[in-house]
Amino acid sequence: MAAKKPPVPDTKVVKLKYMDTEPGHAAEGAKTLMQGWEFTATEPMLDGPVSRRVAVIDLDPDTGAVMPGARFVAPKGRTPGRYEVKSELDFDSAGFKQVSVYTAVMKMMSIFETPDVLGRKLCWAFNGEQLLVVPRAGKMANAFYHRDSRSLQFFFVDDPTKPGKLVHTCLSPDIVAHETTHAILDGIAPDLYNATSPQSLAMHEAIADLGAVMLAVRTDRLLRQVMLETGGEMRTAEAFSRIAQQFGEALYGEGRPLRELFNRASMSKPRGLDLNAPHDLSTVLTGALYALLVDEYETIREEDYQDKLKTEKAKRKQDGRPALTTEEKDDLRFSVSGFALFKASEKFKRIAFRALDYLPPGEIAFADYGRAMVAADTYSNPDDPEPREFIKKEFVRRGMVEDAGKLDPVEPGFDLPADLDLEQLARSDWAAYKFAETWRKELLIPKNTPFEVRPRLDVTRKTWRKDGVPAMTRALLFKVAWQDAQVFQSGDFVSEVAVTRGTMLAIDWETRKVCTLLSSSPDHSTQRDAATVRNNAMRETFLASNIADGLLELGSPNVQIQNGTLRVRAMGQMLHMMGH
Ligand SMILES: [Zn+2]
Repeated sequence: MAAKKPPVPDTKVVKLKYMDTEPGHAAEGAKTLMQGWEFTATEPMLDGPVSRRVAVIDLDPDTGAVMPGARFVAPKGRTPGRYEVKSELDFDSAGFKQVSVYTAVMKMMSIFETPDVLGRKLCWAFNGEQLLVVPRAGKMANAFYHRDSRSLQFFFVDDPTKPGKLVHTCLSPDIVAHETTHAILDGIAPDLYNATSPQSLAMHEAIADLGAVMLAVRTDRLLRQVMLETGGEMRTAEAFSRIAQQFGEALYGEGRPLRELFNRASMSKPRGLDLNAPHDLSTVLTGALYALLVDEYETIREEDYQDKLKTEKAKRKQDGRPALTTEEKDDLRFSVSGFALFKASEKFKRIAFRALDYLPPGEIAFADYGRAMVAADTYSNPDDPEPREFIKKEFVRRGMVEDAGKLDPVEPGFDLPADLDLEQLARSDWAAYKFAETWRKELLIPKNTPFEVRPRLDVTRKTWRKDGVPAMTRALLFKVAWQDAQVFQSGDFVSEVAVTRGTMLAIDWETRKVCTLLSSSPDHSTQRDAATVRNNAMRETFLASNIADGLLELGSPNVQIQNGTLRVRAMGQMLHMMGH
C-alpha cells in the first residue's frame, strides 16, 4: 500500500496589491494598474481589508453607510492568499480602492519595521492597536492623519481635466505613503504632534514626504518608467522628487506638484520661502536629505559602472574586439542605474529613518534631528563617515546649523554600572522610574520636576558595514520627558508657552555603555547653539502670527491658558485642517 503524502501546510504569504502609478500616468496597453507585494501574515486577515493593526472602513460618501469590504481569499497550500479585486484596471471600483490603500499603508509600515531600519514593531500614538483607514472620507482637497479618531482620512476632488470624474487621494501612492508616515512618526515622536515650533511641525511634513519617496523607489513600474524617461539621471527624475503630481495639479494647475524635493531651499537665504509655514519650511530639510539620496545614488552608480566597465574592457581585449563606443558606455552606465538606486535608497532609509528612534522627547529643531542622524549612524557604521559628512555640509549650507561640529555627538560624561539589569529596565516601569530618579542629574531632569518615562525600546538592528559586511547591534533606548515653559508674551493673560523637553539615552546591550545621550533640555550643551536660539525665536513669531490671524483661538479645547501659561495641543492637526 502506497503511503499517503502528508498535505502541504498552508503558506502564510498573502499577495497584496496597490496602484503603482497615479491615474493617467500608466503606460498604454497596461494589463494591470497594480503592483503585488508579498506579505507574510502572522495574524488573521479579514474582509475589508482588516488585520490586527490596520482596518479599512469604506463609507459611502453620499449616505455614510459602511460599504462591504473586499473579500479575503485565504492561502491554500502553496497558493498565496489575496484580496479579491474584480478588475485591476478599474480604479473607480470600491474594491480596487480598498485593497490599494490598505496595501500601500501596510507596505509603508514594513519599510520602517525592517531589521535594518527600526528593527521593531511599530506602535501608534493612540491607545489601541488598530489604525482606521477611510478611503472615501468626502469631497475636499485634503487627506490627513487624525490621532484622536485613530484614522487616516482620504478625501477626493473633481478632476479638472475630466468632467464628472473624481481624483481620489487614496489612489495616490505618494499621498497614502505621506499620511501613513505621519501616523508612524506620531508613534515614534509623539511630542511633535503638539509642538508649537515651526521646525518641529515641519519635521513631520519632511519625514512624511521622504516616506513617499521611499515608497516611490520601491514601486517597480514607476522605477522602470522613470529610469527609462530620464536615462538614469536622478537629478531630472521628477516622478520621485515631485510629491503628488496629480493631486497638486488638481489643486494648483498643470505641472505643479505639492512640493519639490530636489531644491536649494535654505533657512539662511529663504528667498520666496515662508519660514513661518511648516510645509514651506519642510522643504529645507527634505532638500538636504533628497540631495543625500541623489549623492549616494550617483556614487554607487559610478562604482558599479566602473566595475562593469573594467570587466567588459578585459573581455573585449581577450576576444580581440574593438573598444567600447561612447554610446555603449552610456548603455552600460544605464544598465546599472536601477539597482544602484535601490541600493542607495536602502542606505538612505537606514540613515534618515533609523535616526527617528534617537530623537529626544519634546520639541526639537532640525539640528536635533541632524544630531540624531549622526549619532545613530556613527553607532551602526563607525567606519563609513561619508554620508554623515554629507549631511553635516547640507545642514550648514541650508542654514539649519551654524557649523558642522554642532552636529557631532557630545560625550555623555558618565558610566553606568557594569551589572545594570537591562532586561529589568526594559520590562519594568518601576525599575525605569527608579533608574531615572537615580540618574536625574545626568539625564538633565530639573530638580523638583515630575517626569514621565516613555516605553523603552529594545532594538536589534542589522546594518552593512563597508564592503557589504553585515553586522548586528542591540541597544536599549531610554527616554524621559518633562514639562517646561518658554517666555512668550501675548495680551494680558499669557506670559509663557508650555514646551515639552526630554532626554534620550542609548545603551549598548553588550557593554552597558551609554553610546549616545541626546537632549532637548536647555541645560544640555548642544542646546546652547544658535540653531536652538533661532528655533525658540521662530516659535514666538509663529505663535504670535497665528494668534493675530485668529488661527489659534485662545480658550478652545486645543488652546488652553492656565495661570499665564499657554498650552497648545494638536497644532499639526489644526494646521492641516485649515487647508494647508
Ligand atoms: Zn502632511
